[in-house]
Amino acid sequence: MSDTLALARIPLDDYAELLGAGEIEELRALAKPLRGRSIEMINSTAVGGGVAEILNRLVPLAEELDLNIKWDVMTGGEDFFEVTKAFHNALHGAPYHASPRDFEIFLAYNERNRATLPLEAEFVVIHDPQPVALIDARKPGSNHWVWRCHIDLSHPHRAVWDFLDKFVSRYDGAMFSSPEFSRQLPIPQYLFYPAIDPLSEKNQELTPEFIAQVLARFRIDPQRPILTQISRFDRLKDPVGVIRAYRIVKRYFDCQLVLAGGSASDDPEGAIVLKEVLREADNDPDIRVIELPAWAPLEVNALQRASTIVIQKSLREGFGLTVSEALWKKKPVVASAVGGIPIQIIHKHTGLLAHSVEGTGNSGKTRRTWASTREGKFSHYPKAQALPDALSDARAGIVTVR
Ligand code: UDP
Repeated sequence: MSDTLALARIPLDDYAELLGAGEIEELRALAKPLRGRSIEMINSTAVGGGVAEILNRLVPLAEELDLNIKWDVMTGGEDFFEVTKAFHNALHGAPYHASPRDFEIFLAYNERNRATLPLEAEFVVIHDPQPVALIDARKPGSNHWVWRCHIDLSHPHRAVWDFLDKFVSRYDGAMFSSPEFSRQLPIPQYLFYPAIDPLSEKNQELTPEFIAQVLARFRIDPQRPILTQISRFDRLKDPVGVIRAYRIVKRYFDCQLVLAGGSASDDPEGAIVLKEVLREADNDPDIRVIELPAWAPLEVNALQRASTIVIQKSLREGFGLTVSEALWKKKPVVASAVGGIPIQIIHKHTGLLAHSVEGTGNSGKTRRTWASTREGKFSHYPKAQALPDALSDARAGIVTVR
């Protein structure tokens, strides 16, 4: 089992100003039946990507509610993460030739982790497909198991889904981030929108001096407009498409493009995609390709806050936390209408949805988008959603036990 970061505790009452004291009280009431009862969260990486981002905040927040919660990260070799990344892409519609060897590797690492992870908590919450076969460790009638799926399963690769389904169907319940992501399953399903933590390092207010410092460190000109996409270097985030869209905007505005991303230990494709991005950037002095450390929340926060427009040109997406983060910071967002993004962006009201490079570029160059950067027009992050849903996994635990 690999280590998670030391998680920052923020007193629950600090959120009262943002959410209202009533919300905090409701959370306390909801958590009461779970007080002291044990919950174990398991995923496949401690940093990098939305699941780690959520768990980094959800776990200490649940502790604030006196839940006996812990978070363990499964371990795997390069061969395992190559297989799980291929599964991930295949579940999102990429071509994949199913090979028995891949399934064997998947099962072998799950078996190894069954031997090292405790898996004895009253509620075990397994995140995403990588650790799904840990369910084999469950003793009949012993504890409750929930599968928390963060990805879009609406059009999965048949063989990969058939393989995973055999495990998923044995859980007590499954949770999805969008009604469209779910599958027909013989177990109860719950819908919970993920959320960001407004007081975390990723989203808290920053001083102009700190933001200026970060821009200087990455040699970004504070005087000229900045288009930004923050993402792991992943083909499904289409960073090459972002560069092409930027070139359309660039014909009309003297802007810069920032493509910033770190890596995740469960994503082996980053280095290859980064090379593709650098090739496409072709030494354009106004394109900053920034390789961030996997854990750099303050830098990401500063880059988002310094942006004139935030782009999220994904080809496929889970919920898309980077969009939530940008909306929270009152940024105009131009993003693809995929995954959970249309749940967050109401086209022309809370941002702009696009369907192609041209659509992204043309949305990025409209007067409306640029005017909104001055007026703070697209700033409709649903405030009250920010914290309560961060406890969604615990809530589902309550629902399951009832
Ligand atoms: N993120 C980060 N550093 C990076 C790239 C991404 O901290 O270099 C964060 C980003 O701010 C967001 C999360 O990782 O909180 C990505 O979540 P999202 O749902 O957008 O995409 P995923 O990576 O899970 O597909």
